[in-house]
Parts: sequence; structure tokens; C-alpha cells
Amino acid sequence: MDKLITGIHHITALASNPQQNIDFYTGILGLRLVKKTINFDSPDVYHFYFGDEVGAPGTILTFFPFEGARKGQKGVGETTYTAFSIPKSSLAYWKDRLQGLGITHSTPISRFGDEVLRFEDHDGMGIELVANDGDTRGGWTYGHIPLVHSIRGFHSASLNLRTKDLTEKLLTEAMDYMFIGEENGRYRYGTDGKPGDIIDIVLNQPPTRSVQSAGTVHHIAFRTANAATQLRVQQILWNHGQQVTEVKDRNYFTSIYFREPGGILFEVATDEPGFDIDEEIDHLGESLKLPDWAEAQRDKIAGRLQPITLQPEKYG
Ligand code: ZN
Repeated sequence: MDKLITGIHHITALASNPQQNIDFYTGILGLRLVKKTINFDSPDVYHFYFGDEVGAPGTILTFFPFEGARKGQKGVGETTYTAFSIPKSSLAYWKDRLQGLGITHSTPISRFGDEVLRFEDHDGMGIELVANDGDTRGGWTYGHIPLVHSIRGFHSASLNLRTKDLTEKLLTEAMDYMFIGEENGRYRYGTDGKPGDIIDIVLNQPPTRSVQSAGTVHHIAFRTANAATQLRVQQILWNHGQQVTEVKDRNYFTSIYFREPGGILFEVATDEPGFDIDEEIDHLGESLKLPDWAEAQRDKIAGRLQPITLQPEKYG
């Protein structure tokens, strides 16, 4: 039977200054800003979506930048590291690039046969680049990072938990994940085992309690094809004893949410309809997009948002 869940859809995190956030993810990492909208629950805060050319599921990192927010703290019950996939031959390029831009990174960590560079954004958000030769996605570039070295999308995400058994049971029995292997206390799962669908459970690293604020992940979303498969996933999760929300319309996908046994907020989001529903692919991210209910107050909402400039070339 085809899998209902096919990997990571998006990861949503909290940030502080919106311009620094835009600069880091478009300028330093070279991701495309595919949507500039507002936090539907807090319309005076932006919601930025970064991804590949079209914002394909499995490439999308999103942020709510709260100006002036204090740094959060990585801890148990959180997605602590978001890992992007780069070509195996691009490791030296990225080491040089990060060093040249003043971003301190770890010495490469060996993990399941791949080399991993770890660093943080200006808010302390944990980012990794996994140099691997298993990614067939094409990447995307503004021009300042050669296409050959560009980020391909997510590789994986690390869930930091106190114990793994109940989360593992949920992933493998209700969410189409399979156990792939264990290395140095890192338990790996995949729907297919390819970059973009991998989840690692890491126990107690760091062992502190997570404090959600700038630089921490708010939730991780898994992908499902469409509204029909989403309802089937919802039923399976209910049967598994999870408290799952009703389907919520997020304009570019629909979502259901639930908290996994270790306390991390999970979402299952649809691949459809995607980010070109209200903007041409060539112009994604250029104008402020509002949900229908907010359009009547566009001037007021836009007036409260800090002006931002897309300037990836500044980080060439
Ligand atoms: Zn989400």
C-alpha cells in the first residue's frame, strides 16, 4: 500500500529581527523566499516561508519573526537541529563560505557515513548541512551561490527526547516511518530513507528543558498528498490515541496538529495546493500575501509590519 506520509513537509521556527532572518536564509544559505505573509493568529507578525524555487514540500523552513524576542533555549521536547542537504562535493565550499561570512561552524561530524557541518543563525537556531550523494533534487540559486553547491532541501531533523519508545511507536505504527539504524545514540527513521524524509531521535542532547522563543523550532510538519489522505492519517492517529485537531486551512496547504508523546508539536500538511495559488512562480515572495479575511485591513496590517528588503546578493 502506498504510504500516506512521505517525509517532512515544513519546519516552523521562531525568530527575532525580520531583516536579519531574511538575510540569513536568503543571503547566507541561499534559500528562496517563496512567501511573505502574516502569522494568521497574530497579524502584526510576519510569516516567512523559505524553500526551493517552488517551495516544494521537504524544502520549506518557515519563521515567525517577533522583533525584540529573547533567545530561546534548546532542550528536551523539541526539534533541536534542522538539517539541510548539500552535495557531498560541496562541503569545502560551505566551510569556506560560512567562515568567510563570520559564521562559526563545527568541525565536520561523521554521521551515518555523511559529513555534517553544524552552526547557528543569529538567534541560535540549530542548522546543519549534511554533505551526501543520495539527493537527486536539483537545488535553486539567486546567482550568488553556484547552483552546483546550492542547498537541495531538508536532509533531516533531530528530535530531542527524554525517551524514545512511545515516539518511535507513533512514527512506525501510525506515520509510515521505518527504523533505519542507530549510531552513537542517534536513532534514525525514514519513510523511504532519502534526504527530506529522515527523522533522528536523539536522547537528552542538550538535556535542558526547552524554552520556546527566538531560535527554537515551534513545530515540524510531515507531508501527505492531499485532503483525502490527510483525513485517513487523521483517523489513524485518532485510532492510535493521539488528540488531533480538525483540519485547518493554511492557504498553501491544509493542516492537522497533535503533540507526540515526547511533547513535540507535530503537524501533517498536504502537498496541495502549493505556493503558486496566489502568486506566479517567477514572482513568489515578492508581495505581502494576506488571507481573505485580512484583506479588508491590508493597509493597517502592512503599516504595522517592519519594512524588509530582499538582498541576497549582499552575501555574495
Ligand atoms: Zn506548520
